[in-house]
Amino acid sequence: MKSIRELYKIGRGPSSSHTMGPAKAAEIYASRHPVAGELSPVAGELSQVAGGVSQAAGGMQPVGSFEVTLYGSLAATGKGHLTDVAITDVLGKIAPVEIVWKPQVFLPFHPNAMKFACKPASGAEQAAAVQTAGAAQAASGESGAAQAASGESGAAQAASGESGTAQAASGESGAAQTEAGEPTATAATPSALFDEWTVYSIGGGALSEGPGGDGIATATPDLYDLNTITDIMKWCKSHGKGYWEYVAECEDEGIWDYLMEMWEAMKACVENGLENEGALPGPLHLSRKAATYYIKAKGYKPNLQSRGLVFAYALAASEENASGGTIVTAPTCGSCGVLPAVLYHMSKNHEFSDKKILHALATAGLFGNVVKHNASISGADVGCQGEVGVACAMASAATCQLFGGTPAQVEYAAEMGLEHHLGMTCDPVCGLVQIPCIERNAFAAARALDADIYATFSDGFHRVSFDQVVEAMKQTGHDLPSLYKETSAGGLAKGRFVE
Ligand code: SF4
Repeated sequence: MKSIRELYKIGRGPSSSHTMGPAKAAEIYASRHPVAGELSPVAGELSQVAGGVSQAAGGMQPVGSFEVTLYGSLAATGKGHLTDVAITDVLGKIAPVEIVWKPQVFLPFHPNAMKFACKPASGAEQAAAVQTAGAAQAASGESGAAQAASGESGAAQAASGESGTAQAASGESGAAQTEAGEPTATAATPSALFDEWTVYSIGGGALSEGPGGDGIATATPDLYDLNTITDIMKWCKSHGKGYWEYVAECEDEGIWDYLMEMWEAMKACVENGLENEGALPGPLHLSRKAATYYIKAKGYKPNLQSRGLVFAYALAASEENASGGTIVTAPTCGSCGVLPAVLYHMSKNHEFSDKKILHALATAGLFGNVVKHNASISGADVGCQGEVGVACAMASAATCQLFGGTPAQVEYAAEMGLEHHLGMTCDPVCGLVQIPCIERNAFAAARALDADIYATFSDGFHRVSFDQVVEAMKQTGHDLPSLYKETSAGGLAKGRFVE
């Protein structure tokens, strides 16, 4: 398994798979197509004319525009999840972006697929781009003179008649073609896409290039030797240690600083959500509820207050996510309210120290990581059981550990947190991460506290292991029709609602 750093990430909502993942993919693609100005400090202003330049194909092919095709779930709920905005915000700085929506097409590897491609610049733009790059290189003194002498690029190309301005003048391509209005099917004409890159947003902001990928999106090492909770629990037993100590054993020493950063971000997210009021963005005009729940809960006696506060904290983080605020994936954006709510409650109302909270965060991350490695944390792949169900399992494990649970009891708590979400569908209304997502986070946070109590009352022995539930979740998710996996085509998303 990879680092739990891959699981916990600070980002902006509303969706890790539909917003953060596509934004990250766009950044990777953008890095392969710098604006012409970035090739050299002196050419910056000319990037306006030249657009981007593709370096990926081994050459310096000018980019006229980008075309990004969204498939399956990414296309079905991409508008509500702001997928197009996330991509355009990145690539639009280089060249115009066209989004192609294909909600009916599901690529075999994962339902969240996207294909990035470049469209060639027009002849005039190509000429400008090549001239720009050539002039810039010459001015930089690094290779300009030599290139000019060799006739490989820039001014030398112009002189040689191979490309750029020379093409325009020659009438073979470039500006001359544009003026004539009859471009021919050569590499310089805006007819064919090039540098196509298919990548999948597999949940929690993570990317995969699928089988045969070149590893650009996934090049991080595996840090954990043991990939199942069964094996890790055996390790705990034989070493007399807890789950968080296995995390410490596998990660580098910077992990505690990293988890502290995540914890600070989680607290800030809850506190911002308790403070902010008003309607959430989008056509549902849904009002934020966290602040009201918080005030009301404060007025109740302790036994009811406790539950009301947990609801308020979960609503706060989830409403921040729904409004595009800063959150921590745990394991995803859509499920980002569960674990912070429970940990915030443990910190504020049960006075657990930051050190204890970080240990709980490590254990929660380990359980989430096992699911991510062996099954999926993507609603588009396995439904909401993989998002809110997994978040509940993580929060159950964290709480049980904080209250002194043994490794067997912690495993039992996590197992129930996930088992009792098996089969849960993903059917967000209007494609927004609001209904049922926000309330679902609140209920899952409360359920995590119940799972802890239930497991703590036991001796930890039970018939179905966490790993078996993970396997069942994966199979159940794959058996679910795509209607119920983040396409907004079935379930609640098809209903009519009270205005
Ligand atoms: S229903 Fe669950 S999986 Fe689907 S978008 Fe909402 S939180 Fe994510």
